[in-house]
Amino acid sequence: MKSLVILGSTGSIGTQALEVCRRDGYKVVALAAGGNITLLEKQAREFNVKAVAVFNEERAKELKIKLADTDIEVLSGINGVCFVASLEADIALNSIVGIAGLRPTLTAIESGKDIALANKETLVTGGDIVNAKAKEMGVKILPVDSEHSAIFQSLQGSPQKSIRKILLTASGGPFYNKTRKDLENVTVKEALNHPNWSMGAKITIDSATLMNKGLEVIEAVHLFGLPASKIEVLVHRQSIVHSGVEFSDGAVIAQLGTPDMRLPIQYALTYPERSKYAFEHLDLFKVGTLTFEKPDTDTFRCLPLCVKAITDGGLLPTVVNGANEQAVGLFLEGKIKFLQIAELVEKALVSANNKKDFTLEDILNADKQARECVLQNI
Ligand code: NDP
Repeated sequence: MKSLVILGSTGSIGTQALEVCRRDGYKVVALAAGGNITLLEKQAREFNVKAVAVFNEERAKELKIKLADTDIEVLSGINGVCFVASLEADIALNSIVGIAGLRPTLTAIESGKDIALANKETLVTGGDIVNAKAKEMGVKILPVDSEHSAIFQSLQGSPQKSIRKILLTASGGPFYNKTRKDLENVTVKEALNHPNWSMGAKITIDSATLMNKGLEVIEAVHLFGLPASKIEVLVHRQSIVHSGVEFSDGAVIAQLGTPDMRLPIQYALTYPERSKYAFEHLDLFKVGTLTFEKPDTDTFRCLPLCVKAITDGGLLPTVVNGANEQAVGLFLEGKIKFLQIAELVEKALVSANNKKDFTLEDILNADKQARECVLQNI
């Protein structure tokens, strides 16, 4: 029986990961979340964990009182989250949202655990550092993001050097086929209405702007060691082909399945084995037609901005990510319009000071400056 720590356990991926653990009998050692202590308390009691961490200090104090009748240790802040990430277990599943997941990922790697990684912002901002650390510690980074899991699955048994290109699919989000004019006054509610996936708010907005696909191009560069020019984005409205690989001999291998994150979560936990899947199986007769189109990069600017950021390299992916996190937060609060997200990201990107060699501290500074740039331009 494998043991796990789950970071971001109260979110969309975290709760689905716990569902897989509940069903498959994994031992959950510890949990971490941002501030939702009502759910975290329930999870901590159900899985009888050793420790929980709450990023928000005040919420952590409240949770300590609530769990006073148990032996569960309650920690707080970024150090508490990192402490949980360092606890002994086979795998750390990181489903924290945003760059907040970067330090916990590094801590988990330093403690020698394999990482099941949903937190794409870890690789977008710290990909080089994370990969180097994982290599040094001999730990595996197992992708949870459905597209990257599909690519990883398609690559099994084939050498990396035989990849011709990666086929990265995108649903197109709620605003597929819309023009810039149509998008001028879209509401938060409309942007949160994803056609195929039920996810946390930030990634749902990222799907609506196609920033999510841009971040995934950067994530794929780091996971699979290919330049962005070898990653082709295809809009595939049905979200059945989760992504694939074209090999040098012309063979294309892709992974198909229902749009359900429990499958890639499960594969990251069972890899290289496969266990039984207890949820809805794919019925291709019901699906009928699979379609593929080129993305509209004139309307959805965030995708080409990410490609530019990773192609120019250095700290630019961090800048795009930080500006986007800030801008999405402002959009969700009703303070900016939908199209301003891409505009603000672009402003941060063109005004950034780049550096090719950088440390974790440089990443955190670039993130801060990108956020400040967004706030100055609204
Ligand atoms: P949610 O917003 O649903 O959940 C985010 C989780 O992170 C919550 O548990 C939240 O805690 C926790 N959290 C937030 N800030 C901190 C912090 N500073 N320290 C510790 N924990 C924190 O997001 P999702 O589950 O949708 O997404 C999580 C990650 O997975 C993202 O990087 C996303 O891009 C990626 N992903 C998600 C997919 C999905 O289907 N949802 C698909 C593929 C990738 P709290 O609830 O207490 O605030």
